[in-house]
Amino acid sequence: LRDRKLIVQIIPFENRRQILVTHDATETDRIEEMRRDFIANASHELRTPLTVIVGFLEIASSGTALDPATREAHLKLMTDQAHRMQRLIEDMLTLSRLESIDYPLRSEQVDVKALIEEVAQEARALSGGKHQVSTSVDGPDVMGSAEELRSAFGNLASNAVRYTPEGGRIHISWTNNGGGPQFAVTDTGIGIDQQHISRLTERFYRVDKSRSRETQGTGLGLAIVKHVLLRHGGTLSIKSEPGKGSSFIVSLPGTKA
Ligand code: ADP
Repeated sequence: LRDRKLIVQIIPFENRRQILVTHDATETDRIEEMRRDFIANASHELRTPLTVIVGFLEIASSGTALDPATREAHLKLMTDQAHRMQRLIEDMLTLSRLESIDYPLRSEQVDVKALIEEVAQEARALSGGKHQVSTSVDGPDVMGSAEELRSAFGNLASNAVRYTPEGGRIHISWTNNGGGPQFAVTDTGIGIDQQHISRLTERFYRVDKSRSRETQGTGLGLAIVKHVLLRHGGTLSIKSEPGKGSSFIVSLPGTKA
């Protein structure tokens, strides 16, 4: 009981007796703290790009004469920051939708082969030819939301590209692992130190903030993956070795389509 917060109330009862009521508030407190942290983090993440935009707008409206190249550079910086805010808001909305009980899972038969090919194409486009992206599909189709699974698998594949230096390899696979289908992305990237692994699906948790930003990360990708998998009864396991690479493995229940 040492780490728990118990609320104890003594309520007078008839005949001078009393009732002792206890209530464990540990979980409520934890959820409240997570909510506060999320709002603080999200506000901070939005404030940073907004500060840049406001700064350049102030220069533009101050009447300072700018040569065309500087003006162009300022516009580009503002556009990049606006896109960053857009990505963040999109990811925050996706997360809140996935968490909402009013947003039931729309289950359908998913054409896995087509889905994996789409995810690989997206990864190749993001890589711009700087990585080798391969696929193998040797598992059954599943029932689930194609849109949500595409978003989860797409996040894992884009992370593989973003955290793998040029010239690296990324393999995306779909296999039948006895108990059910398994989706995996394996990369030869920077890897992750063991101490971080259990925290990666927390919102805004990043091993290296600047690398995440440079590669246009919002810090919400793996939180989205976690929520999609919760809705599908799936699990995520992460294996990684710093300097060698990582594997993100999704196991889904063996529901035959
Ligand atoms: P981000 O937008 O920062 O990439 P994610 O939630 O997708 O946010 O991932 C959280 C963190 O996990 C990343 O910031 C990065 O430190 C780490 N990470 C995720 N995927 C990989 C990977 N394939 N290789 C190395 N690190 C990774």
